[in-house]
Amino acid sequence: MAEINRVGVIGAGQMGNGIAQVLAVQGIHVHMLDVNMDAARKGLETIQKSLSKLVEKGKLQPHLLGVAVANIAPGTDYAALKDRQLVIEAATENLDVKRRIFKQIDEAAPEGAILASNTSSISITTLAAGTSRPKKFIGMHFMNPVPLMQLVEVIRGLDTDDDTFNSTMELAKRVGKTPVACNDFPGFVSNRILLPMINEAVYALMEGVADAESIDSIMKMGMNHPMGPLALADLIGLDTCLSIMEVLQRDLGDSKYRPCPLLKKYVAAGHLGRKTGRGFYKY
Ligand code: NAD
Repeated sequence: MAEINRVGVIGAGQMGNGIAQVLAVQGIHVHMLDVNMDAARKGLETIQKSLSKLVEKGKLQPHLLGVAVANIAPGTDYAALKDRQLVIEAATENLDVKRRIFKQIDEAAPEGAILASNTSSISITTLAAGTSRPKKFIGMHFMNPVPLMQLVEVIRGLDTDDDTFNSTMELAKRVGKTPVACNDFPGFVSNRILLPMINEAVYALMEGVADAESIDSIMKMGMNHPMGPLALADLIGLDTCLSIMEVLQRDLGDSKYRPCPLLKKYVAAGHLGRKTGRGFYKY
C-alpha cells in the first residue's frame, strides 16, 4: 500500500477544515473543496487562525504553520481530485447531498482512490452502494474540534476491503490520532450513545426540569463531562444534531429516538448553535 500523500476534502466547514489542517501539518497535500470560493477561503482562514493559536500555545513549531497552509489548496472544482489517493467527504449531514457529492467524487477520483465519509450517522454501506467502488469505501469519523480530539471512529461498510481498512487506520495514526473500528449501524457507536443523551437534555429543558445552565452544570460536575450536553449540542451544530436523531429514528425504527420538538424549533428558527451565534446559548 503506497503512503497516502494526496488527499481531497469535500466541505470546508468546521469538520472539513479541521481534517484538512491535521493532514496538512503532517505534510499531506490537500485539495479542500466547497460549494463556492468564499466558503473554501473561509475554511482556510479558520485553519490559519487555529494554527496560529497552536503556535502561541507552544503546541506547534512556528515553521509548520507556513508548511501546513502551503499544503492546502482551497477550491470548488472536482477535477482537482484526479490525482488524489483518498477523498474524505465532510459536507452537510444530509443523505441526498452526500449521494450527489459521492457521484461527483467517484467520477473525478482515480480508480484506486479510497473514498471516505466523515458522516455522523448516515449508513456507510448505503453511501458506498451509490459509487462504483464499495470495496474502497469507508467511514472516517473525526471528532470535533478535529485538531484537539484524539479519536477517529473508523467504520467498515458491508463491502469495505482489508486494504482500505488498513490504509485508513494507518493514516489516522500518522496524523496523530487513535483510530477505533466499529461496524456500520446508524450513528455507529459515538452518536448512537451521545445523541440520545443530548436529545434527552433538550427534553429536560423543554419540560422545565431545569434551565440550560443548570442542566449543563449537573452533567459536567455530576458525570465529570468536560462540557454539558446543551453546550456540546451548540458546538456540534443543532442542524447536525437533528439530522443524526432523524437517522437514528428512521433507520432503527424505534420511537425512543424521536427528536425533541424544541430541537426542531431551534433549527427551524435558524438558531444552529455556535456557527450562527445562537443556540441554547448566545455567542
Ligand atoms: P458545517 O455546516 O460546518 O460545514 C458543512 C460544509 O459543507 C459547509 O461549508 C457547506 O458549504 C459544505 N457543503 C455543503 N454541500 C456541499 C457540496 N455539495 N459540495 C461541497 N461542500 C458542500 O458542518 P460540519 O459540522 O463541518 O459537518 C460536516 C460533516 O461532518 C457532517 O456529515 C457532520 O455530520 C459530520 N460531523 C460533524 C461533527 C460536529 O461536531 N459538527 C462531528 C463529527 C462529524
